Amino acid sequence: MAILNIIKEGDETLRKISRPVTEITPRILTLLDDMKDTMHHADGCGLAAVQVGVLRRIVIVEVEPGVLYELINPRIVAFAGEQREEEGCLSLPGKQGRTKRPYAVTVRALNRHGEEIEVSGQGLLARAFCHEIDHLDGKLYIDRLV
Ligand code: ZN
Repeated sequence: MAILNIIKEGDETLRKISRPVTEITPRILTLLDDMKDTMHHADGCGLAAVQVGVLRRIVIVEVEPGVLYELINPRIVAFAGEQREEEGCLSLPGKQGRTKRPYAVTVRALNRHGEEIEVSGQGLLARAFCHEIDHLDGKLYIDRLV
């Protein structure tokens, strides 16, 4: 387990497209563990692998303490409604902005065991899923300000 360095806005890596995970290796599992430690250490509620400099389609989300989502190759398969709320990002420390997001989303992904899972969230959880998945396509919340 390790605390990784979180890259900040201005680093062009954040604007790159992350590649899918083709095989869940021990290295990927270690990355998931390190991402969790890093997110907790930074007091965040989500983190994408690209934020620690790894261009792989992996995100973690934990908006309710102890309820951790580890999502590999996540994709939004359904969404509904709309919300406009304040959002922040560990790569843009000290900043916040209001974004427009779906109110509810359903995400399909692989878990750490390589099993296909489907998770749904509303409100803050939906926002966190959208925010982190955006990172995998090089998008930041400041691209969606309203
Ligand atoms: Zn972020």
